[in-house]
Formats: sequence, C-alpha cells, structure tokens
Amino acid sequence: MSYSIAIDGPAGAGKSTIAKLIAKKKGYIYVDTGAMYRAMALYFIEQGIHASEQDKISAAAAAVDVTITYENGEQIVWLNGRNVNGLIRTEEVGKMASSSSVNKDVRKKLVELQQALASKENVVMDGRDIGTCVLPDANVKIYLTAASRVRAVRRYEELKAKGLECDLDVIEKDIIDRDYQDMHRELSPLRQAEDAVLVDSSDMTIEQVADAIIDLCDKGAG
Ligand code: C5P
Repeated sequence: MSYSIAIDGPAGAGKSTIAKLIAKKKGYIYVDTGAMYRAMALYFIEQGIHASEQDKISAAAAAVDVTITYENGEQIVWLNGRNVNGLIRTEEVGKMASSSSVNKDVRKKLVELQQALASKENVVMDGRDIGTCVLPDANVKIYLTAASRVRAVRRYEELKAKGLECDLDVIEKDIIDRDYQDMHRELSPLRQAEDAVLVDSSDMTIEQVADAIIDLCDKGAG
C-alpha cells in the first residue's frame, strides 16, 4: 500500500513549497494538483473559451490531454504533449483555473489522474479537495492556512523578487476572491476535512511547518 499525505488550503498558504520540502525529506513524489487545473485552464484560454461557457469547457475537457511526468523530482505538466510548466503561473491562468474547476467534467478527469498517481507511488499531494475527495483515506491530512494579509505579503515579495510590478492590496483582494470562489462552489468546495489537522502558518517558517507535518506523520496523525 502506498503512503499519502494530503495538504489542502487556500491560495498562497505555502502548500506547494511545504509539500515539495516534505516530499524531498521523505523521498515521496510531490503532486501539485493545482498545476493540472491550471494546465486545463491555459487550454481553455488558448481556445478562446470564456469562464462562463460551461458547455464548451466540458467538451474541451473531454478532448484535451493532461499528463504528468517527473524530471529530477520536479513535476512537469504536459498539455497535449507540450510542457506548459512555464506558462501556468500567471494570475490570468489562476483565475481561469478557479472558474473552470467548478466544472464536473474537468474535476472528474483530473481526480482520476490524481488517484491513479497516488495508487502507484508514495505521495505528498496538495490542492483544495485532496483530503475530502481525492484521497479520503490519506494517511495524514493537513489543512494549511494563514491570514490573507500574510499570504498576500508572501506573494508580493515573490513577485518583487522576480522584478515584477505589483500592488499588495490588489494581490490580497485577488486571494480573497479566489478563496471565496473555491469555498463556495457546489462540487468539492475547499474545506477542512473532519480528520485533517489545522496548521496556521502565519507565524511559522517553512521549515517549522514542514517539520511539524513530518512529526504528525511519524505519530500517525490525521
Ligand atoms: O493551487 P493553485 O493556485 O495552483 O490552484 C489553482 C486553482 O485550481 C484553485 O484556485 C482551484 O480553483 C483549483 N483547484 C481545485 N482543486 C485542486 C487544486 C486546485 O479546484 N485540488
């Protein structure tokens, strides 16, 4: 039986950084499910489909091919055979991912892919519905959050470090809007699973959070 750690939480809580670190420390595979929703969203944008056109999104989701491979421990997302890792981290793609992830055909296809990966490998998987829906029997479940201002400041600093112009208040508003959309959708909304451990990273470093989660794994919690 493979071992799985599920990490859910709102945008910018540090899920991917922490999940990657834990995967490295434990020798597990890191599965970034948000990247899969983003790859599909990129396809919808490229096809000129609007977020409100749910029928077109369903049809396109059925036709598109999203796959995952690993190179030196890094997840690569392939969209119809094209490596799209460098194209999916924009705010535009993030917003489209949030809008198109409400679609049941999009979710069904990606959840199946995620479950197939976790059945073969030991995984640290992060997203919005991992503990509640994708891996309900995960060995450890974490709900990772932080105050919206703290999450916005982290994102702001990341963008500044890349030399990009940005406005902290706009970033915080985008984060709050996306969380609202993810928490209030009908299918698999973002919420803490009943058996998940809540970790608030507002006043913790990445190392402290990763160590706390590894500690929980060692104790068999969640
Ligand atoms: O985590 P990330 O910001 O890359 O996710 C982009 C969007 O994909 C989220 O806002 C959410 O709407 C969607 N998503 C989801 N379920 C997941 C992972 C991401 O609905 N497991």
